[in-house]
Amino acid sequence: MLERDREQLAAAFRRRGKSSWRHTEIVRALQRDAENKCMYCESFIDDVSYGAVEHILPKSRFEHLALEWSNLGYCCPRCNTNKGAYWSEDDELRVLDPYTDEIESALMIVGPVVLPRS
Ligand SMILES: [Zn+2]
Repeated sequence: MLERDREQLAAAFRRRGKSSWRHTEIVRALQRDAENKCMYCESFIDDVSYGAVEHILPKSRFEHLALEWSNLGYCCPRCNTNKGAYWSEDDELRVLDPYTDEIESALMIVGPVVLPRS
């Protein structure tokens, strides 16, 4: 998606107000940007179920970010339900943001197990 298109969509998004993240064009834009994959587990969402709009920082704690484009992602219902409104101030307990964190430096994969590097 072009930056200009994203800005226009974000402006329309803010004008609509509360719960506007559920509008079809917002969901489709997030889905397109994510190439139909969950931002957390990378499952193809069409293969799993319907996709959900994820608030990276939960809207229940960060209401001012509920309509912020940079706080939204696209994820599968399982990840959306498991994360829920979880949030921690402790850097070691927080959910990694796949858009801004360097996942490879935070986690290591040993066989079927994912472990923290620190
Ligand atoms: Zn997922």
